[in-house]
Amino acid sequence: MRKPYICGNWKLNKTIAEAVDFVNTLKGEIAGINDVEVGIGAPFTCLSALSDACKGTNIASGAEDCYWEESGAFTGEVAPSMIKDAGCSFVIIGHSERRQFFGETNETVNKKVKAALAAGLQAIVCVGEMLEERKAGKANDVVKDHIVGGLEGLSAEQMKNVVIAYEPVWAIGTGETATPAQAQEIHAFARSVLKDMFGEVVAEATRIQYGGSVKPDNVKELMACADVDGALVGGAALKPDSFAALVKFKA
Ligand code: PEP
Repeated sequence: MRKPYICGNWKLNKTIAEAVDFVNTLKGEIAGINDVEVGIGAPFTCLSALSDACKGTNIASGAEDCYWEESGAFTGEVAPSMIKDAGCSFVIIGHSERRQFFGETNETVNKKVKAALAAGLQAIVCVGEMLEERKAGKANDVVKDHIVGGLEGLSAEQMKNVVIAYEPVWAIGTGETATPAQAQEIHAFARSVLKDMFGEVVAEATRIQYGGSVKPDNVKELMACADVDGALVGGAALKPDSFAALVKFKA
């Protein structure tokens, strides 16, 4: 049984004070919910304070990116062990905005995933096609390429700490959501790719989140899909009330 996982991705938003306020409001709204995993991915500057605010709650804190080296002359980069040191338990890797604007490739995603796992962090690995790729009938090919390239060389044991986020780029921040049928089709395909790579046990155990304009009014139908195990959420994760509504999707 895969535990549903609702995770926010704040992107380039929130000061330290805003992050702490958010958690202080959210924790009351979702107290006692233990059958859903909850995480918040936040800017590096917030992480330590966010992690402190999350202590003793059912909310995990995480980063939105990391580097693959542990230390050295890499100005501006942040190592997975530093993210762990800030109290975080996970890191989002390979978000489409990093692929589009910051030159992220399958190769760098793969290095980052390995480094994150080695540091004891859970890795949320984002995959998904652009609109032109979907229109050209290449959505499956792109998703397969991202999964195979991003997870290459991992063991079944390491996969216990990996979550996939399927995020069709055309649905991110656009208000346009994949229909439940579209999401289910790709999620089932992604699981078949995992099966080919790691076998059935790993494929069945790995959570695959959907991301792309998930909102309180569409979360239930998406979460009802057999292979949708959670959501990675941008816009609707910026306000405690809408994020809480997502976490309470079963209500
Ligand atoms: C995201 O940033 O991963 C995302 C899915 O954003 P939004 O929910 O705003 O579409």
